[in-house]
Amino acid sequence: MSIPSEHAVNQLRRQLKAASTRPFKARGSFMQRCPACLLAPHACLCGWQPALQTRVGFCLIMHSLEPLKPTNTGRLIAETVADTFAFVWSRTETDPALLNLLADPAWQPMVVFPAEYASTEQQVLTAVPITPGRRPLLIVLDATWTQARKMFRKSPWLAGLPVLSLHPEQLSRYRLRRSAREEHLCTVEVAAACIGLAGEQQAAGLLGDYFDIFTDAYLASKLRIPVDLSLPARQRLASHFGRDLSDVRPVPVAPPPAPDGAADK
Ligand SMILES: [Zn+2]
Repeated sequence: MSIPSEHAVNQLRRQLKAASTRPFKARGSFMQRCPACLLAPHACLCGWQPALQTRVGFCLIMHSLEPLKPTNTGRLIAETVADTFAFVWSRTETDPALLNLLADPAWQPMVVFPAEYASTEQQVLTAVPITPGRRPLLIVLDATWTQARKMFRKSPWLAGLPVLSLHPEQLSRYRLRRSAREEHLCTVEVAAACIGLAGEQQAAGLLGDYFDIFTDAYLASKLRIPVDLSLPARQRLASHFGRDLSDVRPVPVAPPPAPDGAADK
């Protein structure tokens, strides 16, 4: 395990916890967790985050509960894409830092959302445009699908931006939180699809692999079972890092906490 790294989502998480008067109790909050990746020690993914080579940046607009949830996948983007910015959404106030970012000529911002929700004035894109001197900044609404639709509708600062619409060919691989809309991808899958649309297949593949091992590690954490070292995504990431998995001895699963939950305190 390592100390929490200060990427954009962890910063928001820390700020939200400091501002909160009641501690957020995620399901399984009695569990012992690595402070950085929020997984059980035997499933810790620290050291498995690939640093993606991409010219794409991400701007996560998060519902205020998302940074606190161990199931949140927006943080997988912040862990792997150096230029990831994250803001908590508010209907009434917009962070000036967010408006400055959107006005920065170094970035070409666009919001990732289904085309059917775009207004008639909004340009709809199906590929990530390549503009000399400007890097694509992909705005992703990190929330449940119901919350994301509300956020999209009630954010006037999004109205003037182009909409990048994805057509996912595969159903969500995400087994942690089922969506009412089967084709609705989780946040990190959206990011991987966008990187692929920008023509960066290797980076997209690595992020997809990291998501696969996160899903496995999350379930291993929750169910107190060993992680699957034979998972093809883990094998590919191991070879990316030049690691030999045949030498790896699995970390033992920790015993369950005391019945009164005292281990959590
Ligand atoms: Zn960890």
